[in-house]
Amino acid sequence: MSGTMRRAVVIAPRKVEVQEIPIPSIKPDEVLVRVGACAICTWEQRIYAGQTKMYPFVGGHEVAGTAAQIGSDVEVVGLDVGDSVAVSALKICGQCYACRHGYTNMCDNMRSGYTEGQPMGPGGLAEYMVVPGYQVYEADPALSVEEASLAEPLSCVIRSIKKANITPGDYVVVIGGGFMGMLHLMLAKQRGAVVIVSEPDSVRLEKAGQLGADFLVNPVKEDFTGRVKEITNGQGAEVVIIAASVPRVVENAVSVAAKGGLVSCYSSFHPKDATVSLPVNLFHDREVTLTGSMSRTPEDFWESVAILSQKSVDLKPLISRTFPLERTGDAFEAAISLDTYRVIIMM
Ligand SMILES: [Zn+2]
Ligand SMILES: [Zn+2]
Repeated sequence: MSGTMRRAVVIAPRKVEVQEIPIPSIKPDEVLVRVGACAICTWEQRIYAGQTKMYPFVGGHEVAGTAAQIGSDVEVVGLDVGDSVAVSALKICGQCYACRHGYTNMCDNMRSGYTEGQPMGPGGLAEYMVVPGYQVYEADPALSVEEASLAEPLSCVIRSIKKANITPGDYVVVIGGGFMGMLHLMLAKQRGAVVIVSEPDSVRLEKAGQLGADFLVNPVKEDFTGRVKEITNGQGAEVVIIAASVPRVVENAVSVAAKGGLVSCYSSFHPKDATVSLPVNLFHDREVTLTGSMSRTPEDFWESVAILSQKSVDLKPLISRTFPLERTGDAFEAAISLDTYRVIIMM
């Protein structure tokens, strides 16, 4: 396809430049996606804010749009030009140790393959994006492109919820009432759990209540451990999900796990090399499992697009604001503020 397109590049902390470049051409195994919407994730917010330094950076991995051009070798079932699609912008090499052991979510080569002289990053904050065919998933055309762009974060939470093996009647504690915490709340409720959300910000806590949380705990104003124990009849929770990046919450999380319970670190923590101290006999005496969840597999992404397309989950309440591409800087400013969940760029 000839012509030019615009993309938003973070060139320095809190500095975005909209650039005009030629529309890239595709190889036989690739698809050119005309981006309709791109949501801004925490990773990109950290780069924008200067916490993680990689410039120039063209972010955007929560992407939905339409298939504009399909390479001759692409054989994605049912995919035609013009179809609505969601993109799973995660490289799977299929050849490394992780891929061959069923952990494509942690492929050793997931971030390799960027072109010399080009900005780093997945590149979804642009009018067009080139991706390998296996990263493209057809979405229902009736699903709004904003919601379809959230298939990526939803798929990561699907993996997390599956790993936690939540069963009806379980008490589930979600630590952190941000966007990811709210997705965990919604999916845990679908699985029949009683959900307790812990969040220090009162506005976010109230929102968790509106979205179906059974119990709300403010860990700054209340004794977190005591309150969870009280709600769970002294036993603790079968599942504790950490959706907050503060390392010491791991200590709080294990303190409320029931016998045989599972604590999952969904978030990554800051700083990267943070450590915590835990009572080690917790594992022997109480058979508590401490684990985490990283990204998603193609199966999780498929499930995510399916439940969005079938409207069995409604993410509209979590879309806080939308901006046009030329206001990407304003969009990042809105995204890093505490009172937004997801901010989406509309092309
Ligand atoms: Zn994301
Ligand atoms: Zn791999």
